Amino acid sequence: MRIVVLTGGIGGARFLVGVRAHARRIGADVTAVVNVGDDVRLHGLQICPDLDSVMYTLGGAADPERGWGRVGETWVVKEELARYGAEPSWFGLGDKDTATHLVRTTMLNAGYPLSAVTAALCERWQPGLTLLPATDDRLETHVVVDVDGERKAIHFQEWWVRHRGAVPTHRFVFVGAEAAKPAAGVLEAIGSADVVLVAPSNPVVSIAPILAVPLLKEAVLDGPAPVVGVSPIIGGAPVRGMADRCLATLGVEVSAAGVGGLYGARADRGLLDGWLVDTTDEGTAIPGVTTRAVPLWMRDEDATAAMVTAALELAGVA
Ligand code: GDP
Ligand code: CA
Repeated sequence: MRIVVLTGGIGGARFLVGVRAHARRIGADVTAVVNVGDDVRLHGLQICPDLDSVMYTLGGAADPERGWGRVGETWVVKEELARYGAEPSWFGLGDKDTATHLVRTTMLNAGYPLSAVTAALCERWQPGLTLLPATDDRLETHVVVDVDGERKAIHFQEWWVRHRGAVPTHRFVFVGAEAAKPAAGVLEAIGSADVVLVAPSNPVVSIAPILAVPLLKEAVLDGPAPVVGVSPIIGGAPVRGMADRCLATLGVEVSAAGVGGLYGARADRGLLDGWLVDTTDEGTAIPGVTTRAVPLWMRDEDATAAMVTAALELAGVA
């Protein structure tokens, strides 16, 4: 069986740990198509937060408490940059993490596409599945906000990390998406998939930028594989992070039903055939989408693998 997972960073990475566990049991092949909208160039380094969250988590090197970056991280480079007054000072650039960004940036500058760079980085981390960026082209999420009495578009990282999303926010723009092509291998993976899973990632800033790549979206919507999503919202609140702020900006209710409705039914040119919600949200109904309620807390690998089993059953491929 071939499984494709559309995913963001931390929530998606934890889900992929369960996908990998299940896939090992049944001998399935897994490709994760990862959001690049968070990617940013800072201090001359190309930083890919979601790809790195997934790579470090699956490689067993992620910081479990912080959720992002490397376990056992140190911050000498960040402190030294601050002493130079080098901006931006609000971004958490760890020393170990910096080595990843240096290797990546050097390879990108030498002309390698991000997909090839990611494959090279994964040779070290052995994530146990194929990691692909949604696109090799530039695609950045920007956020239209009011700051200091002025309306402007800022990079998603500035909105998320510097402002904690706590500024009047009007909309999200996926800069470059219209012209972006799916990265090498993405269309092949989707075209030959038996099932496409949508990780319990942030629907607005992790999943939407992936689907903003026109040919990628077309491949998922028109492809043969059933699509099953997993709700990142349990009992009316995100398990962690700021999905509630993102959904509020779109005027979407912060609930499993709200997110399921935002994704929409495939019959209506939406995304979903199936929608997995938590038992707390039992009874969630999305017109045209088959829903099922199971525990969705990703407490450990076994609990998460059980979610994956339920998602595959819902897709009719278990
Ligand atoms: P990011 O890119 O690092 O922000 O990570 P993602 O977009 O992949 O995932 C963030 C989402 O994961 C948040 O909206 C959380 O609600 C969701 N999430 C985190 N832990 C869990 C969990 O245990 N269960 C479920 N269902 N969702 C979770
Ligand atoms: Ca992210």
